[in-house]
Amino acid sequence: MKPVLVVNSGSSSLKYQVIDVDTNDSLISGLIERVSDHTAAFEQMVADLKASGVTPIAIGHRVVHGGSKFSQPAIVDQNVLNAIESLIPLAPLHNPGNLAGIKGAMAAFPGLIQVAVFDTAFHQTMPPAAYRYAIDRELEQKYSIRRYGFHGTSHSYVSKRAAKFLGKPNFTGVVLHLGNGGSACAVLNGRSVNTSMGLTPLQGLVMGTRSGDLDPAIVMYLANQGLSLDEIDQSLNKNAGLMGMTGDADLRDVLRRANQNDAVAREALEVYALRAKQYVGAYLAQLGPIDALVFTAGVGENSSEMRERITDGLEHLGIALDSEKNQIRDKSDRDVSRADSKVKILVIPTNEELEIAIQTAQLAGI
Ligand code: AMP
Repeated sequence: MKPVLVVNSGSSSLKYQVIDVDTNDSLISGLIERVSDHTAAFEQMVADLKASGVTPIAIGHRVVHGGSKFSQPAIVDQNVLNAIESLIPLAPLHNPGNLAGIKGAMAAFPGLIQVAVFDTAFHQTMPPAAYRYAIDRELEQKYSIRRYGFHGTSHSYVSKRAAKFLGKPNFTGVVLHLGNGGSACAVLNGRSVNTSMGLTPLQGLVMGTRSGDLDPAIVMYLANQGLSLDEIDQSLNKNAGLMGMTGDADLRDVLRRANQNDAVAREALEVYALRAKQYVGAYLAQLGPIDALVFTAGVGENSSEMRERITDGLEHLGIALDSEKNQIRDKSDRDVSRADSKVKILVIPTNEELEIAIQTAQLAGI
């Protein structure tokens, strides 16, 4: 047995899971909420682990922003801690909690190898044409402004699963990670070459509470109308997307309302689906012929209706959904495309914790 502890330490919660990387089985998992003191939260987690008799041999940490510094996971040392700290301005909501988690784990498990796994790392293979914004070069360089992309651990995991499912050495295709947050990724031979999130996780698809793509002038316009930057930030991150358009952030609620003929909900579904469809088209244009379009995360894995809406009308691009296969509820990797579809449409459940455990074990050499 090789138990690896996976830690996802946010600003106010601590999520953990121990995974046996020999079998990929989850041995124990937990969530400590309303965390104000990360040291105390780790003491509670250590007590929970002790009570369950599980002793981890390495620890993997989810870290949201690795900037341009990390294209791979990294064994935590003082340099890595300093680098994560220096990236706080780019991820003020996430990196401080992640950093506190690493420090808490170092105090709780001195001597164990700790690995930082970055949400941004998988996208470091993007070419400049995809990651650069067409802005003043001086500002760009002075403030490290570029597309970083997120959900990299999920896109990496799902791309590898898709390659395996298709019996190919590497995957080429489009992955739609549609959860509470959402992002699209163009993958060429197993490497990310474009993704919809940007400098921050606000860009791209319509999400539960985030707007995704906007005309950036909307921000200046709202500021000129008298809203403070904080108010605009809050609105676009917490009160936009499905939440902003309908008052409900959970797609299940929006679908239920749409099925009861709620026009507001119906229109929100159309906005959501069209945005995702546009990214599929854009990435097809960038990639050329692809093996598959892959759906993952809460919405992608569970909502046959959203898969139907997003793929509707894409037959001319070789993407044809099988409506019956699409309805089958299943937790395994599966193909929901028609037999004559040139591009496969796959549903692949993501597992970011498992990917963090695997990457941690690889780097720790266990
Ligand atoms: P995640 O962030 O991957 O955990 O995804 C969470 C989101 O998935 C929820 O907010 C729901 O909107 C969505 N979701 C989960 N199950 C379903 C379902 N059966 N139909 C539609 N959306 C779902």
